[in-house]
Amino acid sequence: MNKPSIYGLTLEQLTGWLGERGYSKFWATLVWEELYRRRVTDFERMTEVKPEIVQLLSEHFVMHTLSEHVKQESRDGTVKFLLRLQDGNLIETVLMRQKYGMSVCVTTQVGCNIGCSFCASGLIKKSRDLSAGEIVEQLMNVQLYLDQRGQDERVTHIVVMGIGEPLDNFEHVSNFVRIIKDHKGLAIGPKRITVSTSGLPEKIKEFADSDLQVHLAISLHAATNDLRTRIMKINRAFPIEQLMEAVDYYVERTKRRVMFEYILLKDVNDRREDAVELAQLIAPRRGSSSINLIPYNPVDEHSQYQRSEQESIVAFYDILKKNGINCTVRLEHGTDIDAACGQLRSKQMKKDAADRKQVTAG
Ligand code: SAH
Ligand code: SF4
Repeated sequence: MNKPSIYGLTLEQLTGWLGERGYSKFWATLVWEELYRRRVTDFERMTEVKPEIVQLLSEHFVMHTLSEHVKQESRDGTVKFLLRLQDGNLIETVLMRQKYGMSVCVTTQVGCNIGCSFCASGLIKKSRDLSAGEIVEQLMNVQLYLDQRGQDERVTHIVVMGIGEPLDNFEHVSNFVRIIKDHKGLAIGPKRITVSTSGLPEKIKEFADSDLQVHLAISLHAATNDLRTRIMKINRAFPIEQLMEAVDYYVERTKRRVMFEYILLKDVNDRREDAVELAQLIAPRRGSSSINLIPYNPVDEHSQYQRSEQESIVAFYDILKKNGINCTVRLEHGTDIDAACGQLRSKQMKKDAADRKQVTAG
């Protein structure tokens, strides 16, 4: 059996694990600092820790279960990593340079069962959830890439917006958050972490009741049930009323704002009437929310959808603003490098399959 990744343990779990073997919290903290402060890349480099503890850890855990398959660097500084898991599956992680810092987008599942009609990630059914360790390792992979550049750059923000539905992998995503938030480790503040969901009402409530305290983003994409069901079939199971009830519960419980994501699809959900309906839906939640308009990143397999014209985006934005709705248009990153969620993975899988065919044919 494969050994688990040491990055999958929260500090509490690591303390408990070492405690059971007779080592005090002091040692757990030291190991933690080696992992996240000094960011050693293998167990032998944990020079601050007693050799017998290092030995014990290396017998039970590994530090690297992910390997880099492809890395694409964009002109705007975006870097997309295609990583291979121990079982051979591929996942994506993206580093984006923002004005306010370095943001990393992580994947939470291999594939996605929600199957939204516009998304490259949903093209492949979920084969499994990622472990907390596999999610933390994505971030460590990016941080080590930055460390190697030697410019003292740190990942400052996390968006859980890669392949998968994070609230369908609740426990592992929660532990991921606990690990990266820990102030003795990476210390990424909860206000700098955003989890995006396609809208699972019961899970949103559970999220609200949890200790995580991070931001929530809701993939809304339409303001009426007819249209939303057409774009996202999950809306049939959880229609807008149920979703909004859960969102209101979240706001009430956490006193936090939510962000609604709205992809603009040409002539599908970007018309003036769509903007008016969206404004009406959000108006009662004006003070506790914002809308992020996302220019659609075309996906080959979903040729029925095109990106909205610039004038439509501006007109849509203006209608929301006139109605007093907080609204931004998402800046795009890495448009020269398969930036849409799941795109690099699906292209690479097709390429790998074609290469395999060629080898067989040859
Ligand atoms: N499953 C979660 C998180 C991952 S998707 C969710 O759906 O929220 C993260 C965001 O990327 C979602 O808002 C999703 O709608 C958006 N997205 C997916 N495909 C896209 C594309 N081709 N262009 C622009 N945004 C896309
Ligand atoms: Fe899954 Fe999110 Fe893509 Fe929908 S948009 S298929 S929920 S990853």
